[in-house]
Amino acid sequence: MKLPVWIGTSWKMTKTIAEARAYIEHIATAELPAGIQPFVIPAHTSLAAARDALPAESPVLLGAQNAHWGPEGAGTGEVSMRMVGDAGARLVEIGHSERRQHHAETDETVALKARAAVDAGLMPLICVGEPVDVHEAGEAIEFVSSQVRAALGRLSSTEVSGVLIAYEPIWAIGEHGRPATPTEVAPVVSELARVAREVSGGVGCRALLYGGSVDEANAADLLLDANTDGLFVGRAAWTPEGFLRLAAIAAEAAGVP
Ligand code: PEP
Repeated sequence: MKLPVWIGTSWKMTKTIAEARAYIEHIATAELPAGIQPFVIPAHTSLAAARDALPAESPVLLGAQNAHWGPEGAGTGEVSMRMVGDAGARLVEIGHSERRQHHAETDETVALKARAAVDAGLMPLICVGEPVDVHEAGEAIEFVSSQVRAALGRLSSTEVSGVLIAYEPIWAIGEHGRPATPTEVAPVVSELARVAREVSGGVGCRALLYGGSVDEANAADLLLDANTDGLFVGRAAWTPEGFLRLAAIAAEAAGVP
């Protein structure tokens, strides 16, 4: 892995404004270890409150779970990249499998959103991952490489170097998921690193993360892989205590005192 180690969470569809504020105030008063890049992705409704609760000097980056690719206008129920940036987002999650499965997100809309995020000065966090049948057929690498190539298709090679990519196998995510083993993750992440280098003129993307049932028991092992630069966590980091424990594990795995 390269430093810093990225360690972040999406709160998904959880937390009221008051709950978001309490979480952020908790992690803001804790001493975060050196060597990590923490990030938190609230729901849209609590993003501005999280921003307001975060001290200016905090290293924690805030993100949005989604935003539309269009600039503004007739998009009922949507928010633009500029709007989430205005509410405090520095990064934006794009193409999470729940959005691909249930909200008609396609490779094409993911690419449009990655383009719009960069244009708005936001860091795209592009999520890719294969369904269980593809995994069992041994075709995960081809599947997610194709997702990544499509997602980066509207960015210049220089812009690709600012992108975060999260490998999140669909079968590993959520309460019915089985965490991928380091042996399952390593070849996929290695190929994604290669693809990112190829399309960025040799530089690679900003960081490659693994996500899917990460917890305190498996986090350190998942970070042993040379190409895995961090972890993208759901449930295990929905409490500030869980987030801080994972941050400490990540710092230790990176050998940061
Ligand atoms: C996710 O949904 O992206 C995720 C990583 O969730 P969990 O850690 O809860 O499996």
